[in-house]
Amino acid sequence: MGEMLLFRCSECAFEDTVYVGVGMMYYPENVLNDREGGMMKDIIRSKSLREKVKKLVSEGYELESGYEEAVYTCEHCCRMTTRFRFALKHPDGAVFVPSYSCGVCKHQLIAADLDNFTPAKCPICKQRTFTYDPSTYGLWD
Ligand SMILES: [Zn+2]
Ligand SMILES: [Zn+2]
Repeated sequence: MGEMLLFRCSECAFEDTVYVGVGMMYYPENVLNDREGGMMKDIIRSKSLREKVKKLVSEGYELESGYEEAVYTCEHCCRMTTRFRFALKHPDGAVFVPSYSCGVCKHQLIAADLDNFTPAKCPICKQRTFTYDPSTYGLWD
């Protein structure tokens, strides 16, 4: 069961709901299935990252538990977005963690700490007043 989070701008009152956590269909075989009926294309939007993941899985890497949709912010333009956060681990101990880049400015996205969320840039008024409202809560899937 995933959580719906509300982000709200304190300047212009723009609101956006984002979906974090995992849904019912997010079991590992489905997450790693990029064929028809699988979820990989929806969850990992970058084709090059999907190719990388498939290659690593063919080499024996396995999806670590704890994967989820998570909030990221851009360290450069302060845009807030979500990405699928996951790790692949090889039995010999090697770990692969994807790095994501901002869809706007291409700088690196950083996983956000929702307990200490630094306000992101509002997509409408462009002020850094777009923040997580922990008083709202909902579930998806
Ligand atoms: Zn950016
Ligand atoms: Zn705003």
